[in-house]
Amino acid sequence: MTDGQNTPGVDGDTLSARVAEVRRRIAAACEQAGRDPAVVRLLPVSKTRPVSEMLAVAQASGLDTFGENRPQELAAKAEALPALRFALIGHLQTNKAALAARFAAEFQALDSPRLAAALDRHLQAAGHGLDVLIEVNTSGETTKHGLAPSEVGAFARGLAPMASLRVRGLMTVAANTADVGVVDRCFATLRDLRDRLRDDGVPGADWAELSMGMSGDYERAIINGSTTVRVGTAIFGARTSAPTGP
Ligand SMILES: *Cc1c(COP(=O)(O)O)cnc(C)c1O
Repeated sequence: MTDGQNTPGVDGDTLSARVAEVRRRIAAACEQAGRDPAVVRLLPVSKTRPVSEMLAVAQASGLDTFGENRPQELAAKAEALPALRFALIGHLQTNKAALAARFAAEFQALDSPRLAAALDRHLQAAGHGLDVLIEVNTSGETTKHGLAPSEVGAFARGLAPMASLRVRGLMTVAANTADVGVVDRCFATLRDLRDRLRDDGVPGADWAELSMGMSGDYERAIINGSTTVRVGTAIFGARTSAPTGP
């Protein structure tokens, strides 16, 4: 991270250098953990950033899938950038399920039966499926979305009849704290839960994906088994408070 005062329009060389630095740190964390860097995906999180910067990142890095946390912004950017794929990583209200079903290539924040049913209905009508991750609240913070770890098994079993939802794994946002022990416990909770679901043979899923780690904690997440790190600020710089849209 080079500065905290970006206005929209960070130049391509800067973005390219930041992606390279994040990749270097991902590789170093993998080495420390004895993991193959090829199994950790970097998902650049482009919420509030303009499409010009997203194109610069895509061109410089070869990355073709971007994370967005609001369905309206995701839809607008997907229409503007048809060559790119989009992962919806933020909370989704049931009344926005149609937008997600139409424009998202994956959804990482599934956390309610009602939302799952609405998504499945829209996807069945459209004739295609959607890769989904179940969001888990591993910190216990009441401000966070996601199911309690103890709720996930029953919830996942309930998804089995919804043929359009391809459950690939779990997602979490760790506690926002400088206490590495607390952050590690969040990530370990997600990994242990995933191992248990797999061992219990919870159906309809391969449980391959653990989406965990953001700009401030992705190295700890990798050491704890992350397969997807969602990195915004470390690539695009600090976000201004208001979304800029595409
Ligand atoms: C914004 C966001 C990120 C990226 O956060 P940074 O700290 O900017 O890297 C990751 N995951 C989710 C769910 C987000 O909303």
